[in-house]
Amino acid sequence: MSLQLNNFINGQFVPASSGKVFEKLEPATGDILASVAMSESVDVDLAVQAADAAFSATWRDTPAVARGQYLQRLADLIERDATIFVDLLSREQGRALIEMKMMDVPMSVDTLRYFGGWADKLEGRTIPTAGNMGRPTLNYTELEPVGVVAQIIPWNAPLMICLWKLAPALAAGCTVVIKPSEDAPVALTHLMTLVKEAGIPEGVVNLVHGIGPTAGRALVAHPRVAKVSFTGSTEVGRSIARDLAGTFKPVTLELGGKAAQILLADADIPRAINGLMMGLYANQGQTCAAGSRILVHRSVATVVAEQLAAASNSICVGDPRDPETQMGALISARHKARVQSYIDQGLREGTKRIAGDRPVSGKGFFVAPTIFLSDDANGTLAQEEIFGPVGVIVPFDDDAEAIRIANSTRYGLSASLWTQDLAKAHTLARQIDVGAVAINCWSPLDPRLAWGGHKDSGIGHDLSRHAVQAYLREKTVTIAL
Ligand code: NAD
Repeated sequence: MSLQLNNFINGQFVPASSGKVFEKLEPATGDILASVAMSESVDVDLAVQAADAAFSATWRDTPAVARGQYLQRLADLIERDATIFVDLLSREQGRALIEMKMMDVPMSVDTLRYFGGWADKLEGRTIPTAGNMGRPTLNYTELEPVGVVAQIIPWNAPLMICLWKLAPALAAGCTVVIKPSEDAPVALTHLMTLVKEAGIPEGVVNLVHGIGPTAGRALVAHPRVAKVSFTGSTEVGRSIARDLAGTFKPVTLELGGKAAQILLADADIPRAINGLMMGLYANQGQTCAAGSRILVHRSVATVVAEQLAAASNSICVGDPRDPETQMGALISARHKARVQSYIDQGLREGTKRIAGDRPVSGKGFFVAPTIFLSDDANGTLAQEEIFGPVGVIVPFDDDAEAIRIANSTRYGLSASLWTQDLAKAHTLARQIDVGAVAINCWSPLDPRLAWGGHKDSGIGHDLSRHAVQAYLREKTVTIAL
C-alpha cells in the first residue's frame, strides 16, 4: 500500500489546499511508493506565515541552551528510529542499505549534535573606539537570527542534507520552511513526526511538498522569507539567483560538481583503488562530490584501468534492500535515461568503454557501473556532471598537466589526490581550485568541516561554524557613557 504524505505546517500534517497529489515511485521496482501533497503558493504562504509567527512569538527568544537541547533530543529520536530511516531512505532512493547505515543516518545524528553544541556559543564582541562627539562609548555587537529561512533540498541524500541546513538554522534561532525534492519526500516526512515528538514548538519547522518550479519558486519569492539555502543542480541554482536578484536576501547555493581524483605515479595503488571506487560509485555516483574524472599518471594508467575495470564489473547491482547488494537503482526513470544518454554518447564518439558492458536485470532504474578510458579531458564525459555510476580515466604526463586538467571544468567543489609524497600533496592541494581537497581518501564528510564550492559549484557553505554564521547577522550597539 502506498504512503500518503502531507505537508507539515504549524505542527500539523495537512494536505495541499487544492487536495491535489503527485506520485513518487520506488526506484528499485518502479511501483508507486507514495502519493504526495502537491502544494501551491497558497500552501507555501501558510507555512511561511506559521514560521514567521513562531519566529516572533517563541523561537527567537527561546534561550540558546534550550534550542541546543531540542536539537540533541531530535538527534536521540533519529538514533532511536535509525532502522526506520535506513529502510525509508533505501526505498525512496533505491540505495543499498549499507550506505544509509554507515553514512546518512550517523552523519545526520552527528550534525544535530554538533550544531546543538553551537547554539549557546554564539557570542557578540565589544569594540574599543575613541568615543563619539568627545564622549566615551561602549560598543558591542549581538548576533541575531536572520528570520524565516527557506531550505530547498535535493533527492540524493535528503535526510543528511536537510539536517545540514535545518540544524544550524535552528541553533541560530531561525524558523524554517523546508521544500523536499519531489523525488525524495518520504524520510523527511518521517523527520517531521520526530520534530513534533521532540517538542520543538509549533511553526518553528514546517515542510511543504511540491514541484520545484511552483512550490519551490513560490517559497524563494515569498516576501517574509529572509534567507534561502538551496542544494541542487547548477541550473536551478542559477534560476534561484536570478529570482532573488533585486531582493537582497542572502543565499547559500550548494550546486553541482565534477570532482577530479588524481592518482600520482607513487600512489599506494591497492589503497587508492578502494578510494577511487567509493568516490566513483557511492550512491550510484549520485553525489555532488562524485569523483568521476579519474586522472592517472600515464606510467600506471594501464594497471589502474585494469584494476578499476575488474572491480567495477564485480559490483553486485540489484535490490537495494538485499544485504548482499553493493549498488542499487538510480532515482527515477527520467534520470536513468539521462545517465544512459551520456553512456550512449561516449560510445557514439568512439570512447573506449573498459567496464559496464553488461545488462542489469530488474524492472527498477538500474545502470551498470561504467568506466571509459580517454585522452580527451575536454570531452563531454570528462566535463559534464553525469550524476550516475559513470567515470572516465584520463592519463596525464606530469603534475602540471594533472592540475591543469583538474581545474579545467566549470565546477569547483571537491577533488581527491593519491600520493605517498605528502610534501607534494600539500603543494598540489593548494593549486586545485575547489572548496575541499581530500588526500589519500575520498571526500570525508564531517559536520566540523566546511562544505562548499567555487565557480559553478555555488556560493557559501553547509557544515562547520560557517553554516551557523550564515543564519545570523551582527548588530552593533553603541552607548554614549
Ligand atoms: P534539482 O536542482 O533538480 O532540485 C533541487 C531542489 O530544487 C528540489 O527540491 C526541487 O524541487 C527544487 N527546485 C527545482 N526548481 C526550482 C525552482 N525554480 N525554484 C526553487 N526550487 C526549485 O537537483 P536534484 O536533481 O534534486 O539534485 C541533484 C543536484 O544537486 C546535482 O547537481 C548535485 O551535484 C547537486 N548537489 C549538490 C550538493 C552540494 O553540496 N554541492 C549536494 C547534493 C547535491
